Amino acid sequence: MSVNQQAHTGPPYGQPQPGYQGYQQPAYGGQSLPGVPQAQYGAYNGPVPGYQQPVPPQGYFPSLGFPLKGSPVSLNSDTSSLAPNFIGSLRAPPTSGAPPPASGASHPSGPLAYSQFEHGDVQNGIPASAAPVQRPPASQPFLPGSAPTPVSQISTFQQYGPPPASVQQLRNHMAGMTIGSTAASAPPPAGLGYGAPRPPAMPGPPLPGQTVAAPPSSQPNHVSSPPPPSTMAGLHPGPPMSGLHGPPPPTHPPQPGYPMQQNGSFGQMRGPQPNYGGAYPGAPNYGSPPGPPPPPKRLDPDSIPSPQLNELPPQQKPRHRIDPDAIPSPIQVIEDDRNNRGSEPFVTGVRGQVPPLVTTNFLVKDQGNASPRYIRCTSYNIPCTSDMAKQSQVPLAAVIKPLAALPPEETLPYLVDHGESGPVRCNRCKAYMCPFMQFIEGGRRFQCCFCSCVTEVPPHYFQHLDHTGKRVDFYDRPELSLGSYEFLATVDYCKNNKFPSPPAFIFMIDVSYNAVKSGLVRLICEELKSLLDYLPREGNMEESAIRVGFVTYNKVLHFYNVKSSLAQPQMMVVSDVADMFVPLLDGFLVNVNESRTVIASLLDQIPEMFADTRETETVFAPVIQAGLEALKAAECAGKLFIFHTSLPIAEAPGKLKNRDDRKLINTDKEKTLFQPQTSFYNNLAKDCVAQGCCVDLFLFPNQYLDVATLGVVPYQTGGSIYKYAYFQLETDQYRFLNDLRRDVQKEVGFDAVMRVRTSTGIRATDFFGAFYMSNTTDVEMAGLDCDKTITVEFKHDDKLSEDSGALLQCALLYTSCAGQRRLRIHNLSLNCCTQLADLYRNCETDTLINYLAKFAYRGVLSSPVKTVRDALINQCAQILACYRKNCASPSSAGQLILPECMKLLPVYLNCVLKSDVLQPGPEVTTDDRAYIRQLVTSMDVAETNVFFYPRLLPLTKADVDSDSLPAAIRNSEERLSKGDIYLLENGLNIFVWVGVSVQQGLIQNLFGVSSFSQISNALSTLPVLENPFSKKVRSIVDMLQGQRSRYMKLIVVKQEDKLEMLFKHFLVEDKSLTGGASYVDFLCHMHKEIRQLLS
Ligand SMILES: [Zn+2]
Repeated sequence: MSVNQQAHTGPPYGQPQPGYQGYQQPAYGGQSLPGVPQAQYGAYNGPVPGYQQPVPPQGYFPSLGFPLKGSPVSLNSDTSSLAPNFIGSLRAPPTSGAPPPASGASHPSGPLAYSQFEHGDVQNGIPASAAPVQRPPASQPFLPGSAPTPVSQISTFQQYGPPPASVQQLRNHMAGMTIGSTAASAPPPAGLGYGAPRPPAMPGPPLPGQTVAAPPSSQPNHVSSPPPPSTMAGLHPGPPMSGLHGPPPPTHPPQPGYPMQQNGSFGQMRGPQPNYGGAYPGAPNYGSPPGPPPPPKRLDPDSIPSPQLNELPPQQKPRHRIDPDAIPSPIQVIEDDRNNRGSEPFVTGVRGQVPPLVTTNFLVKDQGNASPRYIRCTSYNIPCTSDMAKQSQVPLAAVIKPLAALPPEETLPYLVDHGESGPVRCNRCKAYMCPFMQFIEGGRRFQCCFCSCVTEVPPHYFQHLDHTGKRVDFYDRPELSLGSYEFLATVDYCKNNKFPSPPAFIFMIDVSYNAVKSGLVRLICEELKSLLDYLPREGNMEESAIRVGFVTYNKVLHFYNVKSSLAQPQMMVVSDVADMFVPLLDGFLVNVNESRTVIASLLDQIPEMFADTRETETVFAPVIQAGLEALKAAECAGKLFIFHTSLPIAEAPGKLKNRDDRKLINTDKEKTLFQPQTSFYNNLAKDCVAQGCCVDLFLFPNQYLDVATLGVVPYQTGGSIYKYAYFQLETDQYRFLNDLRRDVQKEVGFDAVMRVRTSTGIRATDFFGAFYMSNTTDVEMAGLDCDKTITVEFKHDDKLSEDSGALLQCALLYTSCAGQRRLRIHNLSLNCCTQLADLYRNCETDTLINYLAKFAYRGVLSSPVKTVRDALINQCAQILACYRKNCASPSSAGQLILPECMKLLPVYLNCVLKSDVLQPGPEVTTDDRAYIRQLVTSMDVAETNVFFYPRLLPLTKADVDSDSLPAAIRNSEERLSKGDIYLLENGLNIFVWVGVSVQQGLIQNLFGVSSFSQISNALSTLPVLENPFSKKVRSIVDMLQGQRSRYMKLIVVKQEDKLEMLFKHFLVEDKSLTGGASYVDFLCHMHKEIRQLLS
């Protein structure tokens, strides 16, 4: 047993590292990351008197000259009366004025359609009364020196082109819809205040030398770098990393004047923030009736005629009377955010900043808070009291991805070594040293920012304070100046007080009849021969420290001795699967390089040995037990890669029966379909977690194999499940191999324990994700990789204060792939509010949806699906009703008023409700549902976003001469033209939809056939053809594949072909075949629910 005493090998402090472990992270958000020179944003030097911002960043005038197609704003003939300069574009809600009227509202004409729900006007944005026109100048940063007048800026409206016929009809019937997105003097985007006058204590992001932002790209989906051609390439470790010693190299920007730590006092950063008005004169008070209406505005919603339903003439053939173009558009919101926020780095120095959307490509600069790649919150301004939180019903949750991969332009967390004494912590709550701890008494003690306890500074850590009370070594220490960093753990943090051994990977291959016959066994063995050279390795290590072992199995298990001294591998069969043991210790887990020849020989022989097998039955639990026992014997953590094909019906522990029963759908017993059929696997998972044995499961079923049960161990050990139904070598091998390569190579930690500490007043109460918990606070994961996400919910246990805000500290203790014990710390500071409007102004709907989906997907384990769906609708209706009641101006009940930051909540919620788990179609199997349920539970915000609202791109509109993506369109059949080809992706599948009238030349160029009828819908890849269109489309597909954690299955769908039904399931704005409401209908339904709550 080797005791790991090696020097730590983390990245040197101050040197940007390439992707974690050299893993080249594909570009985020569909756009390549611009190489922003350090000088542009590097120096966060605090207040700079000479800093002048000659012109406002262009990104802040999104709607000037920017086509508003799809904007939720209705058109008004009198555009000069509109002043919404920031229509639909800002994450912060409008603060004054009211939305423009819908044209139909002003001029109701023609027969009006009724939908099944009564509904009236739809309006977004905070209306007048919530609008602090009287905001202090500091909150109006757009034009330094010249405060914008609320209605002086005229947005240029670009009328949406002639809508499709069906839309046109709707428009004719449209009436009563008042839809305003944002209004005139909208506040700046949350958290950003470029050029704004600031209080001296918190100078914020603008930097010397930082000129205005680059103009927003006119192509929101800009792509400029090709995706990595193969996962093999670029996976070698990056530049050598050495220990964290000495001063930061010059590449690290000097950090004097770091704004958050004057006097080390967290409270001091409080103050009027650009995005946060503090006192809002005229804003409605929490819990009290809305304040007096503001001075009349031309855009006051009340001034807009809003016909009541009983005034409306009946409609002949009603469908709905809402113009789909007039309701909030996800595409527009995404595009606006990209334009507004994609050109500036997101600097994390300011408390409570709302980050750009996950669909926006942006760089992050850590100045004291964790990057949104690590933590995103449902709201960045949380209610001070529990009553207020309950009233709003807005869940307070953080979505945490502790080991997230970073783009190469960003710096990995620095590794801090405090030697034998280990990290400095609070005596009472054990929080780790972080930027928010306050040093007192000349630096001899520090006061904890979480529990206020005062702790002595250990002698070796003592440092003098400067005249502002800040330690003079402030900028030399990541744990004092950055939001995320790592500590090298001491032996005290290790199991049994022993440093861990490097982990092991065990490959366990099903060699039953189906696996052999499909060619799977041979494929896996061939792949492993090369893949084993790409095991994760740490820093500058020449080879991976991970050892490997091999098992094959059907009804019995075969272990292999691949000791380097052997001429040939040796097989040992264990047929007594009832009490699993490992028949060999020496020679089972080996170093790849040392045993290369023997391993190669084994991988050559396995397919031959089982080529003629007749064995169809398999075991499953004993396979996991075998891996677990092997790791126990080797005294190490590790991962099992299990390749499995069938329901384990052979006589053995954990044997399963086929209990699939679709008749249970929509009954009270439906929940049993999601529950494991035996508790055996839960107990096994517990044992695995105790040993640090993580299980990744690759399934290749031809029929039901009970994913709900087989998935228990992978799920509870932090592992992954991959499923390839009806696996066929020709069509599926590429996808499987890509997944396998990424899974084997990706950054992973073992034996992980995560705890989230919070400042007094709130605490973490609930957790969602792939892990095991043996108590109420510690999230245990046998393995944790860079894709795994844990969603944490917080509840109040006391009052919070606006002055001190709220703090989160996520500490992850784990063993690196080289066996080094480390602590990764992420800190995040949030604002707290006594005004509900501040909560709604700083929410993030994508994160809210991530939480709500996970909450609902867990709910189906214990409640009927209908109950879960109703609860979701009810909660969201309450959220929106609370806003309407407390934050919006008094207006006609016929208006639907949505908070600007939540205007997509209805459309996204509807997508969750219509998802396969909550409303399955006839083609969705029980295993599919169990699989999706577990998958979503570990997804990050970007993944849930595209999963629930897929990305739809018109390929025929792609510019073959540029790197950009075509502009995305909304997910509705109405938006499809039969003369075009479209791509739809949701993170699991890519559909290529071909209209019946597509030009023959395009078909020839993309598919290499001469007519529509000749296109094969069995294609799993696009043919490689030498023409610009083919190259462009394939590059788009490759780029999208590179962005996702799983290789998506490509499916070609021809219009009017039977496969089109499958495709239409993903057109989520339409009514679904399974009864799911269309977006318009659902919006109306939500409106009705809200009205009921308010009446
Ligand atoms: Zn404490």
